[in-house]
Amino acid sequence: MNIYGQSIEDLEMFLESNGMKKFKAKQIYEWLYDKRISNFDDMRNISKETIDLLKINYNMDMLKLIKRLDDVDVSKFLFELFDGNRIEAVLMNHDYGNSLCISTQVGCNMGCAFCESGRLKKVRNLDAYEMVLQILQIEKMVNKRISHLVLMGIGEPFDNYDNVIKFIDIINHPKGIALGSRHITISTCGIVPKIKEFMNYDKQVNLAISLHAPNNEIRNKIMNINKVYPIEQLIDTVKEYIKKTNRRVTFEYIMLRGVNDSLECAIELAKLLRGINCYVNLIPYNETSHIEFKKSSKEMILKFYDALKKDKINVTIRREFGSKVSAACGQLRSNYEEGL
Ligand code: SAH
Repeated sequence: MNIYGQSIEDLEMFLESNGMKKFKAKQIYEWLYDKRISNFDDMRNISKETIDLLKINYNMDMLKLIKRLDDVDVSKFLFELFDGNRIEAVLMNHDYGNSLCISTQVGCNMGCAFCESGRLKKVRNLDAYEMVLQILQIEKMVNKRISHLVLMGIGEPFDNYDNVIKFIDIINHPKGIALGSRHITISTCGIVPKIKEFMNYDKQVNLAISLHAPNNEIRNKIMNINKVYPIEQLIDTVKEYIKKTNRRVTFEYIMLRGVNDSLECAIELAKLLRGINCYVNLIPYNETSHIEFKKSSKEMILKFYDALKKDKINVTIRREFGSKVSAACGQLRSNYEEGL
């Protein structure tokens, strides 16, 4: 087992069941996440006996960096996992800090028509440690602290719910990386039962919904998940979530030329979201050579934006990062596999 997948409670139980003091778990966490050692032997205030026990039961294996691409304010990392599978993570410099986008699965089963990740069906879920290591290794490589985390890389986080929650518990722990829950955002294509489960999670993690359409007719064409949980059900669940948690939700809306970017769509979207404590993030589509969708023109995006504003919907246009580094979900892995 990789030690970076252990919550502090796991370590406490492990220590106790081996007849050791459980407070040592906090010290071990300090070595791992504060001092960032890379060898069990460097844990100087931990007894040799405990270190030996840790060594027998855990490893500190890292992910293997296969490729790194840099562009203005953005870097993209392709990692290989112990079993040869590959995932990617993207680091973006914003004026408010460094935001990291990580993967949660190898491949994805959601099958959104515009998305590169789903061209590889889900091979497996990532373990918590494989998510923790994306943060630790990138922080080390760029020698910067990550201030914001988004679960928007390859995979559907709510199709790997338990590991994702465990991962958040590990990185949010004050003795861990201590990333604040309000600085973490989970993005989902809309798995309704998991949104319901997430309402009861005690941490104030942000929720983003990949909406991408104002009605079932368009959403069914581009997102398979809508056939399972149609838009009314999704919106009702989001309303329930907001009522329960008092948190504002983000709706992501990719602008696809001729598909969902008309003025009628904007008006319909405003009507759908009226009165909901949310904001809409309009995302210029990152075109990919394998998929025929085109991005909307700048003018169209601005018109759409204005229409939403006029209808009193909070709306922002996402800054475009990394079209040169294949930064959209799944593009780096996919291009790499094809030798590009
Ligand atoms: N499965 C989750 C999280 C991963 S996708 C989800 O669906 O939300 C993260 C976001 O990137 C989603 O909103 C997704 O629709 C969007 N996305 C996928 N491919 C894209 C592309 N080529 N250009 C812009 N956004 C894209």
